[in-house]
Amino acid sequence: MLRQALNRTSRAFSSLDASKLKIERCATPAQPPANEALVGQWGRIFSPHMLRVDWTASDGWSAPRIQPHGPLQLSPAAMTLHYALQCFEGMKAYRGDDDAIRLFRPDLNARRMTSSLQRLAMPTFDETAFVELLKRYVEVEQEWVPRGEGHSMYLRPTCVATDPFLGVGVPQEATLYVIASPVGPYFPDGFKPITVVADTVNVRAWPGGAGDTKIGGNYAPTIKPVLDAAAQTDGRAQQVLFLFGDDHRVTEVGSMNVFVVLRTASGVELVTAPLSGDILPGVTRRSILDLARADPASVGVDVVSERVFTMPEVVAASREGRLLEVFGAGTAAVVCPVREVVYQGSSIDVPTGGGAGPVASELWRRLSDAHYGRDASGWAVAI
Ligand SMILES: *Cc1c(COP(=O)(O)O)cnc(C)c1O
Repeated sequence: MLRQALNRTSRAFSSLDASKLKIERCATPAQPPANEALVGQWGRIFSPHMLRVDWTASDGWSAPRIQPHGPLQLSPAAMTLHYALQCFEGMKAYRGDDDAIRLFRPDLNARRMTSSLQRLAMPTFDETAFVELLKRYVEVEQEWVPRGEGHSMYLRPTCVATDPFLGVGVPQEATLYVIASPVGPYFPDGFKPITVVADTVNVRAWPGGAGDTKIGGNYAPTIKPVLDAAAQTDGRAQQVLFLFGDDHRVTEVGSMNVFVVLRTASGVELVTAPLSGDILPGVTRRSILDLARADPASVGVDVVSERVFTMPEVVAASREGRLLEVFGAGTAAVVCPVREVVYQGSSIDVPTGGGAGPVASELWRRLSDAHYGRDASGWAVAI
C-alpha cells in the first residue's frame, strides 16, 4: 500500500485516462451474427474488438487501447493463474426502439469493480474514466449490439494480476480488459421456472469473507454443488440455493440474488437478504428494491424488506399457503422464476402457474423498460 501511495505522487504515475484512448480496428472485422444464431450460444460469441489497459505499480495505468479481440500472453507464473487474483463484472448494452444504445446504471458496475479490486489489493481506477471507456468501446462495437426485445450485448470487464511471481502478495502488474458478447433473451420461449436445491452442505460465502465481491475465486467452488444438486433430484435441479448458518438463512441462488414473495399479517411482502458481507450487491437486486420501494402497489406488494429469512420460514409459509413466489435476479436472466425448492429431502412447490408469478412478471417488465430507456428512471445512459 505504501509503495503504491508513494508511486502515486511520483511524476510518471498515471491514472486511468479515457482521453488517451487509442483505437486499432480490425482490418476486416467479422459481421455480427443474425439474432437466430444467438439462441443457445450465451457467452460463446465475441465481438471483434477488446478494450485493454495495462497497469504497473511504478507507472500506473497505460494508455487505454481498443484492439482486435485476441489471446492474452501470460507467464505461466502469472499470479492470476495461481491465486485467483482476478475480478470481473457483468453488464449489458441495450439498443432501444429509437436505435440509441444505452448502458444500465454503469456507475454501479464501476463501483463494484473497484470494490472487488480493493478486496484483492489490486489497482483501482477512476470510475468515471472507466464508464467513459466502456461507452467508447461499445461505440466501436455498435453493430454488435443486437436489435430486438430481450437482446443486448453483454460486457465482461475483467482484471487479472499478471506478475510472474509465485509469492502470495500485492500484485505489481495487472491487465484490465473488456470483451463483449451479443446475447438473446435468457428465456426465448417465455419464462421456464427452475428447480433448485437448498444446499445444507456447501456454503458459498460468509460474513467477513469476500462473497460481496465479484472475484473469480467465488465461482469455481459453486460448480460441483450444482452437479450434486442435479444428481439428488434425478436431474431436475438446475441451480443451488445457497444457505448460511445453523438457522439456514437464504442467501443467493446460483449467481443471482434471490427474492421471495410472502403473504404476511401486514400484506404481501417482497423479501431479499440484507447486504451483510456475504451477498453480492446486484445491480438488478438494487433496481428491484428501488422500483418496489418507490411504489410498492405498482409491482403488487405492500411491504419491501431487506431482512434475514430462513428456510424454516419459507417451509412454514409454504405449508400455510403464504409462499407466493420465489425468483432469482441478475443481469443475465433479469428475473428467473423458481417453481420448486428441494430442502432436506422434501419438495416445496412454488405456485408459478408454469411461468413467472405476478410480482416477478411485473418487475421483469419494469426492468426491461428501464434497460431499453423506455421509462423515466434515467438509469439507462446513452453511450
Ligand atoms: C453477478 C451476480 C449477481 C447479480 O448481479 P447483477 O449486478 O444484478 O447482475 C448476484 N449474485 C452473484 C453471486 C453474482 O455473481
